[in-house]
Amino acid sequence: MKNLWNDADAEKMVADYAKKGVGRDLALRVYTTRLLGGEPRLVLHGGGNTSCKTKATDLVGDEWDVLCVKGSGWDMAVIEPQGLPAVKMGALLKARTLTKLSDEDMVALQRSNLIDPASPNPSVETLLHAFLPHKFVDHTHSTAILAIVDQEDSKPLIKAVFGDKMGYVPYIKPGFDLAKVAAEVFDADPTVEGLILDKHGIFTFGDDAKQAYDRMIHYVTMAEDYVAKNGKPQAAKAALPPKLAKPSDIAPTLRGAVAVARGEGRFDRMISDFRTSDSIVDFINSAKIADYAGRGVSTPDLSIRIKTGPMAVPAPDADKLGDYKAVVRSHVEAFVKDYTAYFETNDALDDVKRTMLDPMPRLTLVPGLGMFGHGRTLKDAKIASDVGEMWIEAVRGAEAIGNFHPLSKADLFPLEYWSLEQAKLASNKPKPLTGQVVLITGGAGAIGAATAKLFAANGAHAVIVDLDAAKAAEAAKAAGNSSIGVGADITKPAEMRAAFDKAVAVYGGVDILVSNAGAAWEGRIGELDDATLRKSFELNFFAHQSAAQNAVRIMLEQGTGGVLLFNTSKQAINPGPKFGGYGIPKAATLFLSRQYALDYGAYGIRSNAVNADRIRSGLLTDAMIASRSGARGVSEKEYMSGNLLGQEVTADDVAQAFLHQALAERTTADVTTVDGGNIAAALR
Ligand SMILES: [Zn+2]
Repeated sequence: MKNLWNDADAEKMVADYAKKGVGRDLALRVYTTRLLGGEPRLVLHGGGNTSCKTKATDLVGDEWDVLCVKGSGWDMAVIEPQGLPAVKMGALLKARTLTKLSDEDMVALQRSNLIDPASPNPSVETLLHAFLPHKFVDHTHSTAILAIVDQEDSKPLIKAVFGDKMGYVPYIKPGFDLAKVAAEVFDADPTVEGLILDKHGIFTFGDDAKQAYDRMIHYVTMAEDYVAKNGKPQAAKAALPPKLAKPSDIAPTLRGAVAVARGEGRFDRMISDFRTSDSIVDFINSAKIADYAGRGVSTPDLSIRIKTGPMAVPAPDADKLGDYKAVVRSHVEAFVKDYTAYFETNDALDDVKRTMLDPMPRLTLVPGLGMFGHGRTLKDAKIASDVGEMWIEAVRGAEAIGNFHPLSKADLFPLEYWSLEQAKLASNKPKPLTGQVVLITGGAGAIGAATAKLFAANGAHAVIVDLDAAKAAEAAKAAGNSSIGVGADITKPAEMRAAFDKAVAVYGGVDILVSNAGAAWEGRIGELDDATLRKSFELNFFAHQSAAQNAVRIMLEQGTGGVLLFNTSKQAINPGPKFGGYGIPKAATLFLSRQYALDYGAYGIRSNAVNADRIRSGLLTDAMIASRSGARGVSEKEYMSGNLLGQEVTADDVAQAFLHQALAERTTADVTTVDGGNIAAALR
């Protein structure tokens, strides 16, 4: 592994932070923490931690010896000084004299000795850092180290690879007990330069930041070299079907299978992130992939991301796709059964009251294709994929030099169900649409953009489809929540299909369609030329049908219901003069909505329409408002609020109606009016 230390960079960071009042020790601690954090083969998403022992001054001017240690929730790659909260050393060192300290008391002790009470929780490995005498301590879950410690008889191998300069610490769950044992191992031979933690990772330490970092890179390289020199050829590859299905062919099926059924047609859905490369596929194509997956995670803290390990499914045969749904579902059922048994067996061992987490896999390995990370948000799904790549690295190395033999699942259980680990995830409270994907046509227009924003604020990821790709991207950025923009002329079936394919490629599927795009053509119906009427039908009817067809195709593959929402306009039920070219296809679309409600209700797919009127948008521009109000001899304000409530109706009001229809789980074949009240246009 390349040593990235650079004197000039280090000194620049010291100088830059000095201007902000941050001392040299902490600045260098930030520098090497980022070097370690930037390498996924060392640490990933909250795994690993670092510390330095220095001095800090409190609010009344007293100076304290402190441990600045990585705070929970900080990513080492982008850490700042405030991500390394200062804890008073005296109290931490005193804790070593205790014989017992519960996890909760350990957290309380650490928190009550913070210099700044607003700091994040210091790492669960804080005491281990504190009990070692060195000024700088680095800890990673290096994949090369894991290849060596994840062996059945790892202790002699660890000694053979690293010699006497590294101490050996048997597996113990992180916390007080591990800290005490690690300190005893160090005390027995204070000449060691670091510690190898069986089935877990590596600590190195030094008198300065560079020495601790250099040692980390040195010992990780030693492990890499050992694996490279002693590696045996890989296990045989599994036979693949002659013609493989594409990832997009199976993504919705898989996504549906890992959704958690809450009963009565309700689901907690997940987002799927597809990840592949030659290296990933080469590994997953192994004939032993299901066996590897079943053995577990390469280092225990991965369990909060991918539970007890990945799920492997067979390669999908393009000619037998019809059978694949049942294959995937049976594998998910088996995973759930194993997970439930793992929970029940280990939960029964003590009196602690625990609730089983959802038992769904978070990482699916598909020979021939790659892997899917699953999570309640796109971010979580991507983290699962990242973790999957590093799991592969560690298992590949472990199998090259022996047999991958990680921590047993019985030992993993207390960690996965450890209150302190669960706390890392607790901040992610789901929103009403968390885990769902909404595709919105005409998404960059006033109503489309307002709807995307509202749905994203309620947890959905939005796929904003618009004729103008740049505006779609802009609206996606404004909506937030990892939403995306797609440029497409949706009157062209191939472009509509491509937009849905994009949704499947990025998120794994679609749950909500807001079929919103429209445009108005004016003219007295008897004199309207055919070409104009047909053009209007293409956008105001056929594009709705094409969007709904695509959405339903994906929803049926997912098997988790869904909802179709159509923007039909007041014209669908109450024609305006010279507006037939617009209103007639919209009337057809209103009935299209009802037809979908009728034909797909049995599959849990709902279909509703919103008929809005007089909304400032691309259809009713400021210039049109000026001309129409002028023609009627009223002010623009009077024209826009010419309804029973006497108030202007906005794009946000329409977005609220769509959201209501998406959330009202027993509402289908509904038409919601958003026009401020118009008795002539009221539905019977
Ligand atoms: Zn660790």
